[in-house]
Amino acid sequence: MHDYGTTRGARKQAPPLDFAEIKQRVQGHWPSILRVIGLPEQFLSNKNGPCFACNGRDRYRFIDRNGDGWYICNQCGSGDGFSLVQKFLRVSTTEAFRTVDKALGGVAIERQHVTPATVGEGKDLSGLIEQTWRETRGVLAGDPVHAYLTKTRGLAVDSIPPAIR
Ligand SMILES: [Zn+2]
Repeated sequence: MHDYGTTRGARKQAPPLDFAEIKQRVQGHWPSILRVIGLPEQFLSNKNGPCFACNGRDRYRFIDRNGDGWYICNQCGSGDGFSLVQKFLRVSTTEAFRTVDKALGGVAIERQHVTPATVGEGKDLSGLIEQTWRETRGVLAGDPVHAYLTKTRGLAVDSIPPAIR
């Protein structure tokens, strides 16, 4: 069967940022998201090293606690992945969320470009069902299916409906 679920959320306008939703979606994906955003690999290490934001040489660590992108710098502070993005790109909280949302693939934006399912698909499908019906027949006594249903499953012989093919 076809799944039209991808078109269900289609909207004409970009929806407002859902901070909680983005936060949930990015959880566990911070290292790859931060790479996409441009954070050099050396700042994705959980060993003490130089900090991207201040002049500390060995005070920074990326620990990604519970997959939330957590970092610690003994000099300029700690925070989750959004705080890291904010500090790294020097942007506002909203901008940090927007950047992460885009890096995640911008599902909300892609949905705007999804075209409705091709008209006629449903018709083709019903034709296929009819064809399948014509090419098969009901269960007759002696068929392996009949033996299975009556002997193995213990169904009464006259209880097998004609819809069973
Ligand atoms: Zn620092």
